[in-house]
Order: sequence, then C-alpha cells, then structure tokens
Amino acid sequence: MEFTFTSKQEMLRKAAREFAEREVAPRVQEMDETGEVPMDLVKKMFDLGFGGLLIPQEYGGSGMGHVARMIVIEEISRISPPLGFTLQIVHLGQAPVIYFGSEEQKRKWLPELAKGALIASSAVTEPTGGSDVLGIQTTARKEGDEWVISGRKCFITNAHFSNIHGVLAKTGDREFSYFMVEADRPGVKLGRKEDKFGLRGCVTGEIAFDEVRVPEENLVGSPGKGLRVALASISNVGRPGVAAVALGILRRCLEEAAKYAKERKLYGKPISDLQAIQWKLTDIYMDYQTSWLLVYYAAWLRDQNIRVDAENAMCKLWATEAAVRAAKLLTEVFGAYGVLREYVPQRLLRDAQVLIPSAGTSDIMRVVMARKALEFSP
Ligand SMILES: Cc1cc2nc3c(=O)[nH]c(=O)nc-3n(C[C@H](O)[C@H](O)[C@H](O)COP(=O)(O)OP(=O)(O)OC[C@H]3O[C@@H](n4cnc5c(N)ncnc54)[C@H](O)[C@@H]3O)c2cc1C
Repeated sequence: MEFTFTSKQEMLRKAAREFAEREVAPRVQEMDETGEVPMDLVKKMFDLGFGGLLIPQEYGGSGMGHVARMIVIEEISRISPPLGFTLQIVHLGQAPVIYFGSEEQKRKWLPELAKGALIASSAVTEPTGGSDVLGIQTTARKEGDEWVISGRKCFITNAHFSNIHGVLAKTGDREFSYFMVEADRPGVKLGRKEDKFGLRGCVTGEIAFDEVRVPEENLVGSPGKGLRVALASISNVGRPGVAAVALGILRRCLEEAAKYAKERKLYGKPISDLQAIQWKLTDIYMDYQTSWLLVYYAAWLRDQNIRVDAENAMCKLWATEAAVRAAKLLTEVFGAYGVLREYVPQRLLRDAQVLIPSAGTSDIMRVVMARKALEFSP
C-alpha cells in the first residue's frame, strides 16, 4: 500500500494553494454577496492548467488524472467552494468527449476544452427528471442527417457562460442519446439563474432548446446509448468532484475551529482547554480524515481504470454529509460569532448543504451503493 502523493502532485497542490490564497481569497466575500461568477478567476484556472487535468496530453491537456483533480478541487474549495464547484463542472462537461467521443470529436473539441476556449455544461436534469433520470422529456428526432432537439433543462451549472452544452435527450421509447450542442445555435435560450443560499458565485440555472438542429457528428457515443454516457460521466467525474469540494470545506472547518479555539479566551484560558470544544474538533478531524481517505482512494482506483461506481457514491455521500456536520460544529465553536455573515462558519454551512442534492442526493447514493453491498452475499 502507498499513501503518498508524487512530487508532481505535491507541486500541483502548492500551485493550487498559492492561487487560492493569493488570488481567490480576496474575492470570496464579494462572490457570496453578489452570486456572480468571477470569470477572470475561471480563466486563470485554465491558464494554470487546472481545466485540462483529465484531458490526455495528446489532446492538449496534462492528463494528470483523477487524484490530481481531487488535489486541485480540494485546495480551491478550501478557500472558495463555489469556485471549486465551478471547476468540477468544467471537468464534468468534458467527460463525455474524453471517455465516449470518437477520435474526430476528441481532436475537434478536447484541445479547445483544455485551454478554456470552449467550456461545456452537463445538461441532464429537468423539472420531471432529477433522481428519476428516465423521466426527462427533452427529445431529439432525426431529420435527414441532422438531429432536432426540444426541451428544457434546469439546475445546469455553468450554463450561463458555457459555449457548448452536453445534452441528454430521448431518441426513442426508453432510449436516450447524448449531444454536444453549441450555445450559439438558433433555438438555444438561457433561462433563469437560481438564487441559491449557498455556493454563491457559481451559477446554476435553466436552458431551453427550441427545435435546435445539430449535425449527426455532434452525437457522442452510440445512438441510443446516451444514458450510459451521461451517468458514467456523473458517476466518475461529477460525484467525486462534489466530494472534493466537500473535502475542501472540511479542511477549512478543521483549520478555522483549531485557530479560533486557541485564540478565544474564556475564564482566563483559551477555549481549546475545554473538553467540549476539543471533542467538537476531534469530530471534525475524524470527518475530514475519513472523507480524505474515501475521496483519494476512489480517485486512485479511477486512475487505475477500475470501475468504482459504489466508491464514487460513497465518497460523495460521506464527504458532503461530513462537511455539513463539520460546518455546523464550527458554527457552534464560534458561539454567536458563528452566525454572523462577516465570519466564515455560516458561509461554509450554507455551501456544504447545497452539495447534498448536486450530482445525486444521498438517497440516490445509497441506491447506487446497495447494488455493490448486496454482492457481498457469500
Ligand atoms: C448546486 C447544484 C448544481 C447542480 N448542477 C447540475 C448540473 O450541472 N447538471 C445537471 O444535469 N443537474 C444539476 N443539478 C441537479 C441535481 O443533479 C438534481 O437536483 C438531483 O439529481 C436531484 O434531483 P431533484 O432536485 O429533481 O430531486 P428529486 O429527484 O425530485 O428528489 C426529491 C426527493 O426524493 C428523494 N428520492 C428520489 N428518488 C429516490 C429513491 N429512488 N429512493 C429514495 N429517495 C429518493 C430524493 O433523495 C429527494 O430527497 C444540480 C443541483 C444542484 C443543487
């Protein structure tokens, strides 16, 4: 067994930490207040190579892989969970082309996606199809050598600045296909931006497709097999990405709790001397450490090309729920200051809670894990 990072991964962590502390930290308050995405910081993440971590070198990325991706998202989310979330969706939008695209599609899109000239959303959820993905109503019908797409997607992260959308649509009775749809095609319309109570500074909203025509070559994967394209991308990239954002929150909770406990003095002593405070810290520490192990283990398995749907679901469920627990404890360690907007605990608590439904709720994570759990029957 090996529990160490490579020197390249350590250098990447250092670069991500420096970027987050120097350039992102001063913007966090403004992002929370306005809810606006800082596009200059998104561009800088691409300039630093964070956008192309999963894209193989031959297509313009660094191909550093899943562990490297977890490192960068954890570090950025330690300072700004919404920016970490934005980056994780950047990767999710690329995944269908990386893992299911034809050679021609990879050559056409991946170099642009790696440098941020193209940003892709992942548009799966609809008002009638969140957990029940088979309930989506967006359709694509074939006309000559074109597909015509109509429908409405909701809760789509990065939709409002993506210039290409990955769209899951029905192409038959219980048959789905996955399309890349350029945002400037006639009939693509952006809808409302949701006013979330957390992860503010990361945009999630609606896209409508009104008789949008795309050529045959925009269909990713085999016709009729789009559900696998969408779900494998969400499982292998979306869920671990959310878990890594949660890991960043957990790390920050631990640091803030330890710092405040040593600084805040009551009865003439720091509150870190109180056993009740120490126990809150140890609970946060355990949640950080167990989440860390699950997140990096699942990422390591993916880097070995081992199928890890259950592990991805487990790290997503565990780390996001742990982040909510930790942020709540942190709020309590801060006493009344914990609920003030100018202090960090309440923001982390709001951000952590928003992670729970994204990329599938905790209930759905249990549904995924149950299949694997039942295989343990001797
Ligand atoms: C911040 C954020 C970002 C998002 N970004 C994207 C994105 O980029 N692209 C995208 O396509 N979607 C995105 N989503 C949507 C997200 O994937 C869905 O919200 C999620 O799948 C849940 O769907 P729903 O909200 O319709 O809840 P519902 O499916 O309506 O669920 C309602 C309740 O029923 C429970 N439930 C449902 N089915 C079961 C079951 N079988 N067993 C037990 N309980 C069940 C759920 O756990 C939940 O408690 C995002 C969501 C959020 C919050």
